[in-house]
Amino acid sequence: MPFRPRYTGLIDKYRDRLPVHDDTRVISLGEGNTPLIRLNNIPRETGKAVDIYVKYEGLNPTGSFKDRGMTMAVTKAVEEGSRAVICASTGNTSASAAAYAARAGITAFVLIPEGKIALGKLAQAMIHGAVVLQIRGNFDAGMQLVKEVAEHAPVTIVNSINPYRLQGQKTAAFEIIEELGRAPDYHCLPVGNAGNITAHWIGYCEYSSASGDHVTEACSFCQGHCMYAGGAIVGNRPKMIGYQAAGAAPFMRGAMVDNPETVATAIRIGHPQSWDYAWKVKQESGGWFDECSDEEILAAQKLLSGKEGIFCEPASATSLAGALRDIKSGRIPEGSSIVCTLTGHGLKDPDTAIKQCTAQPMLTVDAELEPVRAAIVGALS
Ligand SMILES: *Cc1c(COP(=O)(O)O)cnc(C)c1O
Repeated sequence: MPFRPRYTGLIDKYRDRLPVHDDTRVISLGEGNTPLIRLNNIPRETGKAVDIYVKYEGLNPTGSFKDRGMTMAVTKAVEEGSRAVICASTGNTSASAAAYAARAGITAFVLIPEGKIALGKLAQAMIHGAVVLQIRGNFDAGMQLVKEVAEHAPVTIVNSINPYRLQGQKTAAFEIIEELGRAPDYHCLPVGNAGNITAHWIGYCEYSSASGDHVTEACSFCQGHCMYAGGAIVGNRPKMIGYQAAGAAPFMRGAMVDNPETVATAIRIGHPQSWDYAWKVKQESGGWFDECSDEEILAAQKLLSGKEGIFCEPASATSLAGALRDIKSGRIPEGSSIVCTLTGHGLKDPDTAIKQCTAQPMLTVDAELEPVRAAIVGALS
């Protein structure tokens, strides 16, 4: 068997496209390199000829795409001498910050909305030893507090307003282009703070910019950290589509939302931090925003689990829910290739998954052959 070097994370893989030095100590858990899975059964049900791929970001080390950004943010925080990081979180950022801080040997402080984060995410923050502050308020209130406290305490913010986060997250677009040999026609993402849709756009633009000569001119997206080519784009890029939960859809309202509500807690955000960037992404890519009801989101989560064997958390299913609606209506035309990002793993939120399955009651039987056999025969008949 030929020797293949061990995969050691996205910073090592894309070192020449990321703001690190040769001697930077990299804090990595082997994030990135996630599968791009072509859906087999669901496209048939739409009645349209489309190719749908899901980028299964739930298979990152802590179960969400946040790890792509966190490896960069924590690596740079350590490089700059920081001993602590802080974030506000709907759950996944706190899980990721806690893990990477543990790996680096520094402290993570996480502010989470009381009672509104999925159980798996809370378990992660706690087991990795983060200092967890539950606040009596939502994500947006937590984010405001984090910005204020970081001015008065020696902590580095690792929310997506930290420009290194977007730099790490842009690598998902690189991986997609490398696997498909080109960009897809459409890229669908769930949108909360809109950092990830921005990061993907940076990645697509950077990858498709002329000839692999990395253009160092600063772009308007990431404060000089990226190698975005500005106007000089030659390759193909997707239309970017951002889907929001209907109860937390500031991009649809055209204004901030003060009391966001949705079952998709990861995108229960009313004041997106990357507001201006996301509008720019929509305009530059020729894409759009739309919203999905909680019912549509949960139906898409169940469909993906039941028909394809892929379990994502509710927020992640928003990308597929929206894409299926736009495919059926023809807004996404036949013949298109579509990538939906599945941002987080379904195991993050077991409660919501189990609640979804009330129509399939669990049978309890005696621990004997006959009742078990009868149950199987009954279910197959
Ligand atoms: C963070 C997160 C999102 C939203 O990403 P933004 O960059 O805030 O738009 C979506 N889904 C999951 C599972 C997340 O953890």
